[in-house]
Parts: sequence; C-alpha cells; structure tokens
Amino acid sequence: MVSDELSAKVSVTAYATNFAPLWLFVNMSPLLTSAYSPDTFRQQGHALVDLLADFLNNAQSGEQPPLHYREPDDELAFWQHDFEQPANPDPTAVWKNLLTHSIQLHNPRFMGHQVSAPLPVSALTSALTSLLNNGQAVYEMGMAGNALERVLTRWLSERLGLGPEAGGLMTSGGTLANLTALLTARALKAPTDVWAEGSTDRLAIMVSEEAHYCVDRAARIMGLGSAGIIKVPTNERFQLRTNLLEPYLKQAQADGLTVFAVIGSACSTSTGSYDNLTAIADFCEQHNLWFHADGAHGGVAALSDTYRPLVRGIERADSVVVDFHKMMMMPALVTAVLYRRDADAFRTFQQKAQYLWADANSPDWFNSGKRAFECTKLMMSAKVYTALKTYGEALFTEHVEAQYGLARAFAGHITEQPDFEVAVSPESNIVCFRYIGAGIAADRVSALNSAIRQAMLTGGPFYLVQTNLRGQTWLRVSIMNPLTTLDHLKELLDAVRKLGQFIQPI
Ligand SMILES: *Cc1c(COP(=O)(O)O)cnc(C)c1O
Repeated sequence: MVSDELSAKVSVTAYATNFAPLWLFVNMSPLLTSAYSPDTFRQQGHALVDLLADFLNNAQSGEQPPLHYREPDDELAFWQHDFEQPANPDPTAVWKNLLTHSIQLHNPRFMGHQVSAPLPVSALTSALTSLLNNGQAVYEMGMAGNALERVLTRWLSERLGLGPEAGGLMTSGGTLANLTALLTARALKAPTDVWAEGSTDRLAIMVSEEAHYCVDRAARIMGLGSAGIIKVPTNERFQLRTNLLEPYLKQAQADGLTVFAVIGSACSTSTGSYDNLTAIADFCEQHNLWFHADGAHGGVAALSDTYRPLVRGIERADSVVVDFHKMMMMPALVTAVLYRRDADAFRTFQQKAQYLWADANSPDWFNSGKRAFECTKLMMSAKVYTALKTYGEALFTEHVEAQYGLARAFAGHITEQPDFEVAVSPESNIVCFRYIGAGIAADRVSALNSAIRQAMLTGGPFYLVQTNLRGQTWLRVSIMNPLTTLDHLKELLDAVRKLGQFIQPI
C-alpha cells in the first residue's frame, strides 16, 4: 500500500518534472551557486575592504566637504536610472555609488546630527554578524549574542552605579528603548494591568519640554494622548525645572490624570543639557513614580571621572537608556535598556509564544525575545564587545572626554567673537550658537541663520544643523568625530561668518 504521504510526493515530483527545469532536482541553480560561492565572497570582500579603506582615507583627510548635496528628485532620478540597468555580477560599481552619494560621518567637517563615525573594527564586526544573522529571540538562535548582551548590560549598569540587581537588554535604537522602558514603567506603576485588561485610567508621564521627541511618540503609542504627556518647562539652561514637578503633579491629579513616570534627559537633544537627576529621583521616590533616565546621548558621561557629575542621580533610576551608536562609536543601531532591578524587564511584554519558548513565563535572561520589542534582532552586542576587547574601555572614556572638552573650547572661542553668540555654555558635545553680525535687527537673526545653514548644506565645506530654541533659530553642532579639532571648529566659524556677511544685505 502506498501511503498518502508518499503518493503526494510522487505526484508533486511528476508535476515538477513537467514544469520545472531539470537542475532543480539535480543541483542548486548556477545563479544561486555562484551567489553563495566562498571564493566569490572572498574576492568581493577584499574589494570592499579596499574601497572602504580608501573611503576612510579620503573622508578623514577632510579635503572634500562631508556632503555633496543633491536635491531629492535628482537623487531619485540617479538611482531610478541605475536601477533600470541590467544586473552586474560585480557589485563594486554599486558600492562606489553608495559611497559617493552618502554623507561622510568620518569627515572632520561633519558636525551635524548625533550619529557616530563608526569605529572601523565595529563596522567589520557588522559584516560578521550580518553573515551569521543570529536572530537573538531564542537562545539557540543567538548563543554568543545573548550571553554578550548579559555581559555588556551588566558592565554598563555597574558603570552607571545601578547596583547589584541591575541588568537589561539591547534593542534597536533609543526610540524603541524609551518605549520599552515606559512600557515596563506602566506595567509596574499603573493602577491596573493595562497589558491584560486595557485601561480606562487616564495615564500620564511627566517630561521636560526639551526631551527628545521619541518620548512624546512613545507616550502616544501607549495611548496616553496629548493630555497624558505633561511637558514641564525648562530653566535658562534648558534643564527641567524640578521645582515645578510638585505643582504639575498636583494639577494633573486634579485633572483626573494618573501619573506613573517621570523622565529625566541625560542629556537633552537640542542643547545637550543634563536634567537634575537627583532632584527627579527624590521626587519619584516621594510619590512612588517610575524614574526613567534617557541617557541615549549623554549616559556615556558615567565612563569619565571628569564628566560623571553630570549624571549624578542616574544610579537611582528605575530604567536607563544608552545608545552605543551616539557617543560610543558603534554603527547603528545598538542601544541598551538598563533596569535597576533586572527582573523588572520580564514584566514589559507578557506574551505566550509556545513555538519560541517552552515556558513563556520563566525569567530566563538568555531568550532576548521575552524582554525586547523585536522578534528577530540584530546581533548588536558583538560590535560593542569587539570594540571593548580590542581597545578597552579607555576608548570610550577618551572619546567622551575629547568631544566634551572640545565643545567647551569651541564655546569659549565663540564667546570671544563679538559677531557670534552661544545659546548656553555646553555641558556635553552639543553647541548651539548663531551669527549676529554687527547691528543686525533681532527679528532678522533667525532667518539669517536659517539661510546660512541652507547655504552651508548645499555648497559649504561643513555639515551642521539648526534647531529652534524658544522660537529662535540657532545653528547647532554635535562634535561626534574623533578627528575634528578646534582648528576645524574655528574654520567653521569663519565659514559661517563669510556666509552671513554675504547673505545679510540681501
Ligand atoms: C538620539 C536620541 C534618542 C533617539 O534614539 P534613536 O537611537 O535615534 O532612536 C532619544 N533620546 C535622546 C536623548 C537622544 O539623543
């Protein structure tokens, strides 16, 4: 008797032999075979490393501007045209185009957004983890990666002073990390089990008006709505005015809101200002609220004896977020979510997925998917680990000290120029400043600085950005590149001045 299974197989084969090419049953397709050839990979890999080393040489020399700006429609047309050409087994042409059509973060004249110039050895580790593609969610799909997450989150927790029970996980970026921590906060502090039952409570968080926009976004994703995001005003240094926490909480309660968390910025995004974390910790303790510290950019200060005082109080946070792809030179995305009580992390996502985990409720550190938002997740811990094992922790310490020091020196230089002003003396490596010329009407200064930034973007030798502070436009630099020097920054000021003088009379 032929079993049903066997007869099914036979008929599938009969069908396939009629309709599919014979090699399907004999061998892999020649195309797939060549695409997976280790020899081809070796050749392509050598070619790529050569291209990247040349790119680094060129970018780091700073001889060209960091960006050859093209209008979006022109850029699209270029790629659309390229896309329509036949495929070519040699990928180097594509790689070259990608390199020349992208902004150079390794260029010392790049000083725009807060994205690192990746450490070359970590970029190589990215290639390794891409090839391994271990997905992390379940232990056996990421043995090394999950163990390294444990090692690294404990190491960073220890450096932040979070105590012996601390730990955490890694996730794809500060935005997701802040959402993850706030979901944990809600699970532990909201009066009802929102995960299981939904909520009719009007839940709320309190955060500085200068916090990164992703905190607002996380709160809205969680259904808090505009009323549930209580934005506390900042002082003249753009730090949360902690003396307002009490009256704002009272007002929220009077309005029928249930506040469950306060977020401190360490540091804020526009000006790089550190909130008074000790005062926030005191307030949260007193009112039984979750204290979350957003240290995506500036949590790294804890690795420096000089700058650790900036994050005083972070050791009392219930949760902390630190981006490795900001001030720790990693390629995106690598972020740690740390908890003062590691076990809290298992309350965030209480989900049963029997095909992934035999026991969905056990607090096993080695199954990343139980605590992280992602199912398949980058093997991100390997990049940080390689950096630490290759250069030691001193690499991070020296980087933060160099960049924070440079920002202070640059601000000092600006204050010596009568035709410039700084928004606030920098606490981190972010400096906001503007060109005021001599006797330019106050109501024109914002428009002039916007025009300077636009001219610099499209044809200038530097890349910097702008920000809005209390309704005024300011130029903004984040000094991210270890190769940027005070001379580059002085040149930047000259270039801004020239543009200002050129544009101003128009
Ligand atoms: C950059 C940043 C974020 C967002 O992190 P991503 O990794 O870009 O998602 C959040 N908070 C602060 C303070 C930041 O600087």
